Amino acid sequence: MVSMVTSNDQPPPLEWVAAYRAAMVNDLITFLRARLGELEQKAPDVHEGRCAAHHEQDRGYEYHPEWCDCGRPDRERAHIEAKRRIIEMLTRYERAIQQGESETARPSDSIPAAMYAARDGLDQVIRLHAAAHADHPDYREEWRP
Ligand SMILES: [Zn+2]
Repeated sequence: MVSMVTSNDQPPPLEWVAAYRAAMVNDLITFLRARLGELEQKAPDVHEGRCAAHHEQDRGYEYHPEWCDCGRPDRERAHIEAKRRIIEMLTRYERAIQQGESETARPSDSIPAAMYAARDGLDQVIRLHAAAHADHPDYREEWRP
């Protein structure tokens, strides 16, 4: 982790802030992508309670995912895909801002405030989705929205 403390009460250099932010966002995105991958693995077997995939018979319970009539696996996949698209949007804004900041000494001259606002909004959305997995051992409190 990059130290944010400076010896002379000056704000940290912009490149430090950018490096710290990039590292934190990368870790957060990596974490959420991993959780989405796990959910995707389980999606085919997530059904509503009354789905035909859960089949009661005289000789007991049988599971036939191919008989699914609840549509839940497809909805699970759609939720996962939506979150992946949100991650892509955040990544695009992060890259554009980092590129703009590296090209000029005064980012406010070249990067519209609306771009920062959009980035920060997406950042909060990602944090909210990641917080759904706060009980995971790899979750970090610093990510909490
Ligand atoms: Zn089903």
